[in-house]
Amino acid sequence: MIVFRKPIEGVERPQMPADVVIVGGGPAGMACALRLSQLIDAHHAAHPDSQLSKENIYVLEKAREIGQHCLSGALLDPRSMRELLPDFEKEAPLDAPVTKEAVYFLTKNSRFKLPVTPPFLRDHGNYVISLNKFVKWLGSKVEETGITIFTGFAGAELLYENDRVIGVRTDDKGVDKEGHQKSNFEPGYDLQAKVVILAEGPRGSLTKELVQKFDLDKDRNPQTYGVGVKELWEVPSGQIAPGEVIYTMGWPLTTREYGGAWIYGSKDNIVSLGFVTGLDYPDPRLDPQHVLQEFKKHPFVTKLLSAGKMIRYGAKSMPYGGWWAMPPVAGNGWMILGDSAGLVNSARLKGIHLAIKSGMLAAETAFDALRKDDFSAASLGEFQEKVESSWIKDELWKVRNFHQPFEHGMFSGMFHVGLQMITGGRGLRNRYPATSGYSRMKKLSELPADGGAEADLLGPAKGDGKLAFDKLTDLYHSGTKHEEDQPAHLVIHDTNVCNERCVKEYGSPCQNFCPANVYEMVDDSTQLNGKRISLNPSNCVHCKTCDIQDPYQIITWVPPEGGGGPNYDGM
Ligand SMILES: Cc1cc2nc3c(=O)[nH]c(=O)nc-3n(C[C@H](O)[C@H](O)[C@H](O)COP(=O)(O)OP(=O)(O)OC[C@H]3O[C@@H](n4cnc5c(N)ncnc54)[C@H](O)[C@@H]3O)c2cc1C
Repeated sequence: MIVFRKPIEGVERPQMPADVVIVGGGPAGMACALRLSQLIDAHHAAHPDSQLSKENIYVLEKAREIGQHCLSGALLDPRSMRELLPDFEKEAPLDAPVTKEAVYFLTKNSRFKLPVTPPFLRDHGNYVISLNKFVKWLGSKVEETGITIFTGFAGAELLYENDRVIGVRTDDKGVDKEGHQKSNFEPGYDLQAKVVILAEGPRGSLTKELVQKFDLDKDRNPQTYGVGVKELWEVPSGQIAPGEVIYTMGWPLTTREYGGAWIYGSKDNIVSLGFVTGLDYPDPRLDPQHVLQEFKKHPFVTKLLSAGKMIRYGAKSMPYGGWWAMPPVAGNGWMILGDSAGLVNSARLKGIHLAIKSGMLAAETAFDALRKDDFSAASLGEFQEKVESSWIKDELWKVRNFHQPFEHGMFSGMFHVGLQMITGGRGLRNRYPATSGYSRMKKLSELPADGGAEADLLGPAKGDGKLAFDKLTDLYHSGTKHEEDQPAHLVIHDTNVCNERCVKEYGSPCQNFCPANVYEMVDDSTQLNGKRISLNPSNCVHCKTCDIQDPYQIITWVPPEGGGGPNYDGM
């Protein structure tokens, strides 16, 4: 029997008072901490007797080191960083300014360059970065301010008093696979906070709990997602210039799936390449890691990589739903930032600058709340107003309907996006509806047995060890490590559904959509269908795809013991 992770009951937990707790030390959380520190410093300069202090502001980050769980493309739009630290370009780790960009439509053996790069994919003025290095640097800036970052600590549960969030419980450490306390057991802390700021990235586990508890997705479009599978390659010099940016559409996906690839030339002959597959594809056998392997077989990509070497691998989800899927971002004792709030411009494949800006606006709101000593929904609701009157809304409003028409295929998507470009994002109506991606998955009985046009993307990729890799080889390059002896942090609410229904109806798609081989159906003659779900939680790269894409919605991703996870060094 699989035992699933949950906070141990009946233990006494250390209590810690806090003014502000920021959960998640990515771009949003770090920008929030930094801006809060700037405001408090400026306040002290004007009011030397002020009691406001940074001592009780904490950032919780589940990774062992800052930035270790941060994975992105990445191109940085510097707009918000220039507002946060006007001289940041002089010292931040920026690998190359964008020098050249192109968008290609691919067929199996050919490529067609779009004569004009669509405005949303024009990247001059942006920088190629490693988000891991960039967040490490941002974290060092936060540490200089005196704000404490607790690395290796996950926010495991929110604490409530009636309808108010009053704090965060951190993860229990030292619990064995059966859920018993080990000799090194340490209960999680209860951080009693005046305001909790959720900056957990896409599909945040505490954010999901908050959204469900307060019905925050009521009247919104369902949030939709893609999963980006990425490899870093080292290639001989001259193959691609630092700052060269390539996007592709089309092959190997068919017109029924949404997604595309990026190739970014970085410094030191490093190439970032990856494929984002929309998590709304119809065939449960489709495997996003396989899609990337197939993409590399295109002659154009093979030529770029053939004399190179793959050095890193990772995967992460990103929210696509846009403005209409954004939940309320503030309430009684809480705020939600960055990807957790869905602040991504999916047309541009960019969210770092929006995450940073939202962190800054939340910091300004928290600072005012601290001065007024008022953390009510009315007080923190100023954050909502700030987001809606900032350039975050200006940018997201223009693409508010971008993703929805692709639900009806690529041609519908391109037609409507064309209309939206000439109507300020409106298209045929102000709000296009959306369908949750997992509900668009079809049962095996509705699909061709041979896979039809998607046949080459289904099931596990084989790999040749040079250009294409199987999942376990790729996974090895993600540096993923967890404490093995702990309960499974992929909580399946009813494994009978996996063993009795899913295996027959959908063919156990968890084995395919997970880019890290966490889920396996193993032979078991005692089961009705001769198969039983088995988990390898220590493979998990924290991409959250399982939580998003499971057709029965019975998987909940919760943080494992803090410190475990991928090591996205340089990614
Ligand atoms: C494949 C891919 C390519 C992308 N390319 C680009 C690009 O080129 N340019 C661009 O601008 N954007 C890009 N994006 C989007 C961009 O990466 C995100 O918008 C941005 O990283 C969001 O920042 P964030 O701080 O909200 O979340 P994240 O960067 O996800 O950071 C969240 C942090 O919170 C931590 N955390 C999560 N839950 C907990 C918890 N419960 N307790 C403690 N810690 C927790 C995580 O470990 C992580 O460090 C891309 C995204 C993907 C997936």
